[in-house]
Amino acid sequence: MKKVNTLEKIGHYLNPISHLGERRYSIVFPVLSMASISIFLELFVHYILRDPAAVGVPAIVLYIALIIYFAFRCGVRGGVAAVVSTIVYYLYIIYDRQYTGEQLTSGVTTTLILGSIYLVLAYTIGWLKQTIDELLERQVNAKGRLLTIIRQLPVGIMITDTTGAITEVNAQFRRIAGDKIRPGDYVGSAHVRLKYPQSGLTVPIEQLPVLQALRNAKVVHDREFMITIGGKKRVVLVSAAPIYDQRQRTVAAVSIVQDVTATRELEKRKDDFVNMASHELKTPITSLVLYLTILKRRLAKRDYARAGQAVEVIERQTANLLKLINNLLEVSRHQVGKLTYTKENFRLDDLVQEAVDSLNDETTQQNIILVSRKPITVYGDRFRIYQVVTNLITNAVKYTNGKGDIQVRVGRATGSARVSVKDFGIGIPRSEHKKIFEKLYQVGGITTNTYPGFGMGLFIAKEIINRHKGRIWVESGEGKGATFHFTLPLSRKSD
Ligand code: ADP
Repeated sequence: MKKVNTLEKIGHYLNPISHLGERRYSIVFPVLSMASISIFLELFVHYILRDPAAVGVPAIVLYIALIIYFAFRCGVRGGVAAVVSTIVYYLYIIYDRQYTGEQLTSGVTTTLILGSIYLVLAYTIGWLKQTIDELLERQVNAKGRLLTIIRQLPVGIMITDTTGAITEVNAQFRRIAGDKIRPGDYVGSAHVRLKYPQSGLTVPIEQLPVLQALRNAKVVHDREFMITIGGKKRVVLVSAAPIYDQRQRTVAAVSIVQDVTATRELEKRKDDFVNMASHELKTPITSLVLYLTILKRRLAKRDYARAGQAVEVIERQTANLLKLINNLLEVSRHQVGKLTYTKENFRLDDLVQEAVDSLNDETTQQNIILVSRKPITVYGDRFRIYQVVTNLITNAVKYTNGKGDIQVRVGRATGSARVSVKDFGIGIPRSEHKKIFEKLYQVGGITTNTYPGFGMGLFIAKEIINRHKGRIWVESGEGKGATFHFTLPLSRKSD
């Protein structure tokens, strides 16, 4: 077995075809080989044939063959090296055979003429070999470039041959469908099970988009499926298309996969939001309509005292409505970055105090206590920061069901100002800490949440803090209360 391998290796080394495309043009191999062959030939004619003159014609035929071989194996450099070695050998023959007179002249002339012909031959064949090398390299590069592009595209790509065996999957595909998919696997036996989103049933092998594209020679557009990777359900959008060669024969198929889980989640949140918003808007409007009728009736009866009560309710509901609409508008303004900020230096501790006092007036069931307060000046939009503080405190009140006080702190924290709002309420599971700052997000979803709200407050707060180059985060565990912190850069003139 080993012998075959060694033989194979020698065969590969000697075969000029197997060196096409290599672009390695050594001269050591031709020179050493030519020298060895010449020595062998000399020994052969001197000691076996015992006729030094017998070298003539075989030396020409054999050496032409050798020059062609070396030019084709080692390029122009190899060919020229072989020619030079040949000329040296021919001159050695003239010297060794002690040619004189006419024989010497004709020997040297023949060597020169043959040498020139050999050079042209070596150069032509060597050039041919190098051109082929270059073309092959270009082709390999073009293929390599294409593969690099495929590998780095931001969508998942899988290429299969006509039997459905995977030939290429890019990194994004693996990210979406998991690491277990490997080139060489058959697409049907791959470890990822596509499921129909509605029924949850596994997609039969023959219904896999890539196999359908192959069988029907048609493009399959944007089919939505579910997959479960690492215990997490993901929604994927799959398209597949057959790939044809120049003669329109199907040679492969490509499948493009996109992870649309986040988009679908946001769409669902938006749907929920629209339902919730219409419900929330309907409540004050229904009440407004009702109290306007009551007001009309009481005015007709000239019952001004009770008419005043109705006006108060109308006022309150109108304020609610306005707050709701403003909130809605603000989200969309934040989204398009349209909000303008008016920044100034102001005392953050005064602002927090103001917010705490005003919310204490409104909240009856809980105490909001400013437990620690250090004088600190920041540069920012007073109104927006006030909005953030109020939002954190109202959330704290809302999500505690009247349990415990709300503790507020304002002070300095390594190069910035920090405000913290601590409550002892329902808390937030760790997995939700990032999500609650997303647009329209509510822990447990809008439909299961029993607290009024839209999941917009923290999104707006985060936008505002980000625009001030600050940071906002939460420390909490389920049932363990929550502490929201935010930081703001200090003003240059601070303190
Ligand atoms: P919402 O209008 O629903 O209160 P927010 O953006 O202010 O919207 O908050 C997003 C979600 O974060 C809330 O729905 C709630 O689930 C959770 N959350 C916010 N603050 C608290 C808190 N102090 N304690 C517990 N959960 C909170």
